[in-house]
Parts: sequence; C-alpha cells; structure tokens
Amino acid sequence: MTQNTTQNNNLFLSVSEVQNRIISDIQPVAGFERVDLRHALNRILAEDVTATFNTPPCDNSGMDGYAFKSSDIGEKSELTLKMVGQSFAGHPYTGQIQSGEAIRIMTGAQVPDGVDTVVMQEHTETPEEGTVIITTIPKPYANVRKEGDDLKTGQIFLAKGKKLSPTDLAFLATQGIAEVTVSRKLRVAFFSTGDELRSIGETLGNGEIYDSNRYSLYGLLSNLGIELVDMGVIPDDRHAIENAFTTAASVADAVITSGGVSVGEADFVKETLEKLGQINFWKISMKPGKPLAFGTLGKSLFFGLPGNPVSVIATFYQFVQPALKRMQGQKIVLPLTIKAKTSEFLKKRPGRTNFQRGILEQSESGELTVRNAGTQASHVLTAMSRANCFIVIPAESGSIEAGEMVDVQPFEGLVD
Ligand code: AMP
Ligand code: MG
Repeated sequence: MTQNTTQNNNLFLSVSEVQNRIISDIQPVAGFERVDLRHALNRILAEDVTATFNTPPCDNSGMDGYAFKSSDIGEKSELTLKMVGQSFAGHPYTGQIQSGEAIRIMTGAQVPDGVDTVVMQEHTETPEEGTVIITTIPKPYANVRKEGDDLKTGQIFLAKGKKLSPTDLAFLATQGIAEVTVSRKLRVAFFSTGDELRSIGETLGNGEIYDSNRYSLYGLLSNLGIELVDMGVIPDDRHAIENAFTTAASVADAVITSGGVSVGEADFVKETLEKLGQINFWKISMKPGKPLAFGTLGKSLFFGLPGNPVSVIATFYQFVQPALKRMQGQKIVLPLTIKAKTSEFLKKRPGRTNFQRGILEQSESGELTVRNAGTQASHVLTAMSRANCFIVIPAESGSIEAGEMVDVQPFEGLVD
C-alpha cells in the first residue's frame, strides 16, 4: 500500500493520481472456488483454460448446398455432378466419393474425406433426381469450416483474470467444460454515518432524512458480484464509529463508509481511520467528492466516501470500483472514457476535475452528443437519475462552449 506522507496530507491530489495510487499496489485476493458454468457468469477466472480438443472437431459445412471435389472444377463455368448421398448435421455421410460426384450437405454437417468444397444451394439446379448442376462455381475450398479453426488442442482460450461473459460460457461449453475455478467473491462491509439518518421504515423526525447511500452502494456493489455486509446507520459518535470500524475490518476485504469525512465537528471517520488503521490521503481535487478518506484498516482496504448522495456514486465509480476490480483480479479497471460533442454550454470554474451528470445521445448519423442532465448539485439525485454518463471536465478547464468535444464516461461502460 502506498505510504502516507505528512506533507501530502495538506495537498489536493488529482483524480488520476489517486486512481494510480489506489490501484497500483492492490493485489488480487487469495482464494478461489470451483463453480459450475451457470454460476460462473460475471465471475473472474482464476486459472488459464486450455482447449483439450480442436473445435470445430471436424471439417463441416458453412452452408446448405452440395459438397464436391475442387479438382473437378478445372476451367469449367458450369459443372454437372452425380449425387451419391447426403450428410446432415449429426448424420455424417460414410461412403466414398469419386471424381464427378457430389453429396447433398447441410450447415454444420461433416464434410467427409474426399470432398473439400461446398457450393450453396442457391447456386445450383436439380433438373432430375440424382443430378446436380452447379451454375455458379465457387472457389476451391469454399464454405468449408475447417477442423480447429476456432480452437486448437493445447491453446489457452480464456486467461486468468477474465471476467466471464455470456459468450465465455458458450466458449467453455464448446469444450464440454462443466466447471471452472474462479476467484472467491469479495466481501465488502458498508455503513452510513450521521445522526440525521433514518433507515426506511422508521419515521422521520425534525431535520432527519432517509439514508439513501446504503442503497446506491448496495446496487453498485451488487453489479460487481460482491458479497455484502450491510451494517446499517451508525450515529456520529466516536465510540460507535470505532466499534463499527473494528467489526467491519474483521469480516471484510474492504470497508466502505459514507458521510463524516468532512472537517465538521461530528466528522469522526477520518480521525478513527487515523487511530485504528492507516490513512493514505483524503483530499482529492474533484467535484463532487472532494473529501475521501482512503487507507487500510487491519487487513481491509478502507474507503470513507463523502456523505452527499451524488458524491458517493461519483467517487465509487472513480476509485472504489477500480480498486475492487483489481482485488477481484481484473486487469482493466478504470472507467471507459470516450469523446462526445457537447450540445450545450457547460458551466465550470477552473480548479477541480468535474464529474457533471450528462445525457449521452447518438444522432441518426451516429454522432455522439452530450447535454446537461439537470441541476449539478451533489445532494440532487434527480439529475443523477436522469443521467447516463459523467461528463468529465479537467481540473484546469473553465466553462465549455456548445459544440466543443468533451470526455464522457458512459455508465454502461463503468459497470462492466
Ligand atoms: P457529511 O459528509 O456527513 O458531512 O454529509 C454530507 C451531506 O450528505 C449531508 O447533507 C448529509 O445529511 C448527507 N448524507 C450523509 N450521509 C447520507 C446518507 N447515507 N444518505 C443520504 N444523505 C446523506
Ligand atoms: Mg454527517
């Protein structure tokens, strides 16, 4: 883990500096489990997987048509062949085939020894039974899918660290693989801090609000396939927070809190981390999300996120998700950033990197444009809910005029 240095304590770190510091030292957690194919979806592969046989396992037809010998083509522009049999998917032709002969063949059916070319049905005529006329002659070897052209015996086809997609399940199935070894699930404990917070189901008193951060965190963590330990709301009380820290660190690979990291009187998260663990930094030059306590608590990684609901989501995507993906053993962890043209003026002061809530759209011609999703305040979920991306405006940049290109992080790209 990167060491805290006292002189850094008063500096604001840039977003990318923080991302690099967080992810560079993280090792994937130890431990794995065997799971069957259906339970492997979205899990992280903990072993290289090798093909034990060629796939496709035999030459087979890519078309419905007729199979014949390319040596029969010669200089001819039309070819009349004698039909001697058929090869259907799962029902191969077992006889011999001589020069001047063809067999009827279906897509996926084995191309038998002796023939090497398939003509598609649409390029043939069958004026009488037992004869096929090829009216458009294909190139030699056309429409034959060769044995092993997807996977060769001994080839590593899925590498350790790969997040298994629906395609990968199919890929494993083509090799008849029923079980794979995946990294064990990460366990993350999280709680909210604040005397003003009530859980759903409780009645709100004067000045109280419902705890919503535990729900965004629930969703964000669930998307990553993480085992959750929801520890509820902890009051702004030094001892209660210390106890919660100790419990969380004893059960989880990572601990996430929200609230209580500002410099207010009742903000005990940072000082508790300093006391019970190690704080690496806490000031980031970004908006929303400036105060964020990052460090270690026993063997757990610790993230003290700000309290404002939008700040929680923004800092999660930028820092927590990359860290957790690394712990899961994934290689590519930072959010995907693309370029789009802003169709509106975007207000910003130079100073901090902004993660504005935006709506990314594609015009009929395919051009990507982005616009403001609404009020850009860190307590306002309306714009966050409407948004489908962050518009990332660099720290030094001021406002941006309509028509300029901006960096955009689509939420879809952030989730995977
Ligand atoms: P704090 O970081 O504790 O100073 O909180 C900053 C702002 O976020 C305050 O307006 C809090 O009321 C609000 N807040 C903190 N935690 C939550 C939460 N779990 N759900 C909703 N709002 C919160
Ligand atoms: Mg608070």
